Amino acid sequence: MDKLAIRLIFMGEFPAELHIKGFKKWDSQLFQIKDIQEYPLNLDPDWDDWAYSDALLESNLPSFATSNNTISRTPTEKIDINIYVLNKPIQDNYYSRIINNNRVVLTYYQVVELLKKNMIPLDNFLIYHIYLYALVYLIKKGKEMTMEDEKYLLHKDCRGCLFDYSIYKNEVIFKCRWLEICGECKYKLITRGVSPIIIESIPAEFRQRTKPCYEKIILLLKKHPINSFGLSFIIAILTSVIASCIYGCFIQSNRSCCNM
Ligand SMILES: [Zn+2]
Repeated sequence: MDKLAIRLIFMGEFPAELHIKGFKKWDSQLFQIKDIQEYPLNLDPDWDDWAYSDALLESNLPSFATSNNTISRTPTEKIDINIYVLNKPIQDNYYSRIINNNRVVLTYYQVVELLKKNMIPLDNFLIYHIYLYALVYLIKKGKEMTMEDEKYLLHKDCRGCLFDYSIYKNEVIFKCRWLEICGECKYKLITRGVSPIIIESIPAEFRQRTKPCYEKIILLLKKHPINSFGLSFIIAILTSVIASCIYGCFIQSNRSCCNM
């Protein structure tokens, strides 16, 4: 299977902890980030609570070619899904919405604080949604995706699954820490023609690539507190022994110099 080609378009300002350029290096069996664009978001909100409606975004976001849409401005590389990333509220306070021409709008609004508080890298939220929409795209077999297609895959109860609906925003942390796909969702995907190999590869791929080093260390400390304490104790002893040796050598060499 050819990897799906994804373009990320960042609209507006984002916290420095979001590694925008770093997404280009992301590689998956399922998709490839082909292009990253950044634009200012010069739009006045038109929806309740200062949010942006689908209609406003559909007609005002920068447009690019996709595999089933020939409307083209630069760059013209063939792309399957365009994902627009915002940091402002969108219609009905959703995390993400599918608009027209296989374009997805995703927002970090109210998510940044939740992720930071729970020590989850901000990048995870975007990567999670790329997997989600890549799978929606696969079940549509390249035809135009709609919100109804996404709703078909989502379940309202929170299982820590890629397809949790997450009615409450704070539930986002359960799926962005460890991306899993529950048995029911695996079955649904397979019956719609998605390869079981791809499905099985997703959680491992996500886990392997999204955890930064510091989080791995913290998780290790939490998992093995007694061993960690013992290891810290041994390191402290070794450090003081090495420091004493260095100090001893330094004093001795100084004394030898003085005696000469
Ligand atoms: Zn599920």
